[in-house]
Amino acid sequence: LSRSVVPVVALLVTACGAPAAGQQVKPAEGALVGVTMPTTSSERWIHDGENIKRDLERLGHRVDLRYAENDVPSQVKQIESQIADGAKLLIIASVDGSALTQPLQRAADARVPVIAYDRLLRDSPYVDFYATFENFRVGVYQAESLLAGLGLRAADGRPSSAKGPFNVELFAGSPDDNNATFFFNGAMSVLKPYLDSGTLVVRSGQTDFQSVTTPRWDGETARKRMEDILATTYRRTKVNGVLSPYDGISLGILAALKNNGYGPVFPIVTGQDAELASVKSIIADEQYSTIYKDTRELATVTAMMADAALKGRTPPQLNNLNDYDNGVKVVPAFLLNPVSVNKANYHKVLVESGYYTDDQLR
Ligand code: BGC
Repeated sequence: LSRSVVPVVALLVTACGAPAAGQQVKPAEGALVGVTMPTTSSERWIHDGENIKRDLERLGHRVDLRYAENDVPSQVKQIESQIADGAKLLIIASVDGSALTQPLQRAADARVPVIAYDRLLRDSPYVDFYATFENFRVGVYQAESLLAGLGLRAADGRPSSAKGPFNVELFAGSPDDNNATFFFNGAMSVLKPYLDSGTLVVRSGQTDFQSVTTPRWDGETARKRMEDILATTYRRTKVNGVLSPYDGISLGILAALKNNGYGPVFPIVTGQDAELASVKSIIADEQYSTIYKDTRELATVTAMMADAALKGRTPPQLNNLNDYDNGVKVVPAFLLNPVSVNKANYHKVLVESGYYTDDQLR
């Protein structure tokens, strides 16, 4: 997908008859839709929840929105109670993508279709559609920005100027989230030749996915792991860059670096989600980059998918019918484009698009 998705979403909204923002809509009389999100501990999921609710209500549906606070049994209960309450469709961003086979079976028994939101639901045949971003590409962008920050790759009009070798460390996301593997594999597809040639060196020796994961994407866990690595491996030398898959993890890594005397010039640290604290950190020259995923677009696409499915139609949005095998079936998906953001383009991408105001970033 090289094209911008913004016009695509606008086109689809028109085609599907969703009312424009601000337009008067009759009070919701439509179907009850159960929406479950993983946690309120990260801003992005709060935005996702609000956006989906708003878009579904504009289409005339009722929404039951719940957050599981990263607890699998809570999410199972929430989904089961939504089915019992008569939900006609479920939208699920899972805590653990493989842990919902029982409630998905119940949904199937009650003939309730299911849309996997952002994170693939694995190991169940009862997943009808999937709405997400180009997850492999997110990892590619993270690695490319790590290289650009180190000067190994041309960026922002600057030619690549450095030769290395550079010390880098690698972090991945939660092993129970299918996306974490996609991000890591995408990043490694870019970094591997540099690691093979010795231009990049992982001094801790921790390079395989299992040894670099961060359960539940927890920033504090990442801080501790970074502290351990600094204590054991970097007493006599410095780390130059850290591949981080998510802003909450990036802030944990930066905290560990600060505790160990790094700054005011920091190693290159990547991220994801363009969370407010991380964008401020980028502006302050601490975190180097993030990956922006417009949750407004993801919500709009998902709401339209849901609306079509509730009307018994195949959603017209599907643009990827091959890549997302959940272990039991290939789930038809719609993929949106992520955007790589650093200090040079944050204003254009995040402020001019209306995602944040200048005031929020001060
Ligand atoms: C999402 C990322 C997010 C991460 C942690 C992933 O499933 O795709 O956008 O950074 O979860 O919440």
